[in-house]
Amino acid sequence: MAMQYPEWIWHNGAIKRWADATTHVMSHALHYGSSVFEGIRSYQTPSGPAIFRLTDHNTRLFASAKIYDMAMPYSLEQINAACRDVLKANDNTTDYLRPVAYRGLGGFGLSADTPTDMAVATWKMGQYLGASVLEQGIDACVSSWQRFAPNTLPAGAKAGGNYLSGQLVAREARRLGFGEGIALASTGLLSEGAGENLFLVFDGALHTTPVSAALLNGITRNTIITLARDVGIEVIERDLPREYLYLCDELFMCGTAAEITPIRSVDGRQVGTGKVGPVTRQVQELFFGLFNGSTQDKYGWLEPL
Ligand code: PMP
Repeated sequence: MAMQYPEWIWHNGAIKRWADATTHVMSHALHYGSSVFEGIRSYQTPSGPAIFRLTDHNTRLFASAKIYDMAMPYSLEQINAACRDVLKANDNTTDYLRPVAYRGLGGFGLSADTPTDMAVATWKMGQYLGASVLEQGIDACVSSWQRFAPNTLPAGAKAGGNYLSGQLVAREARRLGFGEGIALASTGLLSEGAGENLFLVFDGALHTTPVSAALLNGITRNTIITLARDVGIEVIERDLPREYLYLCDELFMCGTAAEITPIRSVDGRQVGTGKVGPVTRQVQELFFGLFNGSTQDKYGWLEPL
C-alpha cells in the first residue's frame, strides 16, 4: 500500500515540509546502521489528545544513544517538545511518532566523529499487523532466523542495525503466509517477535521472556506487567523453550505498533481454543482502557499534547 506522507516533519531543530527533510547519501547511518529511534503512539482520550509514555520512550532513545556512544545534540525536553510540535503541525491527524537520531555526514570510518542528526516524523499507523487482528488474532511462525547473541549486538538498544534481524524474521514470515514471525535467542530459547514482545498464559498467569533473551525491553511489555499486577494477575519473567508456544493456554504479542495482538496459532498448531482467551481479553481491556478512560491513568502515562 502506498504510504500517505503527512505535510510536516521535524528535522534538526525545525519543522519542515516532509520533502525537505533530506540527508546525504554518504551519511554514516545509511552505510552502517548507526541510528537509534523510537516508536510512540498518540491517542485521542476523553481528556484530550495524549502521547503514551512519551518521556519513557524518549528516555529509552537517550539510553540507546548512550550504548552506542552517540552524542545527542538536543535535550530530552527538546525532543519531547519536538514530538508535540510535529503532531500539532500536522493538525493532530496522525497517531504514531518516530524520533530518530543518526550519525550523519562527517567521516567514512566506523569510529568517525560524525555529527548526530535528528528527526521526528509522524504518520498514521492504524493497526500495524492488519485490520481486525486485535479481535481475531494472527497466525505466527517460529523463524528460521535467530536473534543476535547478547555479546554481538545489544538488544536493549533500539538501534537501526538491529532491525536487519527483524526484517529477516518478518519478511520470512510474510513470505510463508504468516502474520508475524517469532525468533529464538542464540540460546535456542524463546526471544520475541520481529518487532514485538511475547506473553504466554498458563493457568491464568502471564509469562514473558526476560531481557536476557536478546529482546528489546518494551514499554508496552512494562505497561502490561504493571497493569496486570495491579489487578492481581501473576506475571512471571522467565526463559521458555519453543514448545511452550504450542502448549500455552493463550499467547499474544505486544508493542507500540502491534499494541496487544492475540496469536491464534504457531507453526500451524492452534493455541488454546484458537480464539482470543479471557486473560488476553482482560489485558486488552486494561490497556485500551487507558485511552477510553476505563483504566485509571495512575502512573501519569498519558502525556497531554
Ligand atoms: N521488540 C522489538 C524488537 C521492537 O521493535 C519493539 C517495538 N519498539 C518491541 C519489542 C516493543 O517495544 P515497545 O513496547 O516499547 O514499543
